[in-house]
Amino acid sequence: MAKIQMKTPLVEMDGDEMTRIIWKQIKDILLLPYIDLKTEYYDLGLECRNETNDQVTIDSANATKKYGVAVKCATITPNAARMTEYNLKEMWKSPNGTIRAILDGTVFRTPIIVKGIPPYVRNWTKPISIARHAYGDIYKATELRAEAGSKAELVVTTPDGKETRALIQDFKTSGIVQGIHNIDKSIEGFARSCFNYALDTGMSLWFSSKDTISKTYDHRFKDIFAEIYENEYKEKFEQAGIEYFYTLIDDAVARVIRSEGGFIWACKNYDGDVMSDMVSTAYGSLAMMTSVLVSPDGIYEYEAAHGTVQRHYYNHLKGLPTSTNSVATIFAWTGALRKRGELDEIPELCEFADKLERACIDTIESGIMTKDLYLISTLENKTQVDTVGFLEAIASRL
Ligand code: NAP
Ligand code: MG
Repeated sequence: MAKIQMKTPLVEMDGDEMTRIIWKQIKDILLLPYIDLKTEYYDLGLECRNETNDQVTIDSANATKKYGVAVKCATITPNAARMTEYNLKEMWKSPNGTIRAILDGTVFRTPIIVKGIPPYVRNWTKPISIARHAYGDIYKATELRAEAGSKAELVVTTPDGKETRALIQDFKTSGIVQGIHNIDKSIEGFARSCFNYALDTGMSLWFSSKDTISKTYDHRFKDIFAEIYENEYKEKFEQAGIEYFYTLIDDAVARVIRSEGGFIWACKNYDGDVMSDMVSTAYGSLAMMTSVLVSPDGIYEYEAAHGTVQRHYYNHLKGLPTSTNSVATIFAWTGALRKRGELDEIPELCEFADKLERACIDTIESGIMTKDLYLISTLENKTQVDTVGFLEAIASRL
């Protein structure tokens, strides 16, 4: 059988630990036998980030801007423990944070629903997509500690040198301060990509923030969404029979739990980070969640929503068997290959992506699954397989 040919390379961002092991296995077992895979490879593994002073992360984001589509493996965000473990020169920033700051845009996360894995929330019969704003807020924060007796102020200086000052706190005892920002243009891009995604998928859009407490910051998000909706999308939404509504984040949380699903929940950066883990876990497993960053200028970066699965990796290093679920990482590849196929007009590539996704779902629905799903599956005849065994079961269906 002739391999499927590609035109433009995918930007391939390799990563760390167990997901790095899976990354290679997916390529060897599921992709390379069928596709003449064209990628521009960037090693975002922590060792290479450390050697290049994190330049490799910046280069990979710029390559994504150039080619338009990337696929990313999960990567370690260093903390104090990782400093020693990897003998790091610096506590490098989160690669996802760096990439999102360069590409801007919105991260859409959607659970992969399979028979036999009922959501913990009984009434969730349809998927809930989380749209996470991917720029700014605490991910681009400046933080300081303040000793007792210090005064912290917020200062904004205009181009002609005029200062506006606001007192944050007079510290009687020691404390901490954080400065965060966002940009109108980025919020506008966030709003438009959410409205477009809602029209594309035919799902209603909810947006939530804490504008009652954050009367300038969060309120700006609310106003920008409302203005763009009124001026550009209201009629299209009415024609499509879908709705947009804004509500406070605490009200949204309560409504989401009572809902049957089937809508997009747009969240600010931090809310989306936290809520997507809650939503994916409630649908069954962190490993059954797709994630794509869409920039306002139509650039796509596909990844898994989970981390590097450190605990499994340490078992793997000890030679113990692992049962790591590769579905989200496979769907990152299929998402990227399908998008490349659409942009380069290679229907075989899109068809291959569809078939590989179908093979993953069929494998699980036939009762063959990794431990995370085995523990919660309601299927009567089910078998737990190891990491490679799962990939081979998918390959045999593919
Ligand atoms: P994690 O990799 O998401 O894993 C947490 C736990 O969730 C695992 O121990 C495992 O539970 C379960 N799990 C997650 N993915 C799984 C999969 N594919 N198959 C089966 N089980 C899965 O989080 P972590 O171990 O706390 O973080 C490890 C590293 O990932 C950290 O250094 C963090 O910085 C990084 N991280 C990266 C990204 C990213 O690049 N997108 C996102 C989040 C975290 P059991 O152990 O109970 O089986
Ligand atoms: Mg998270």
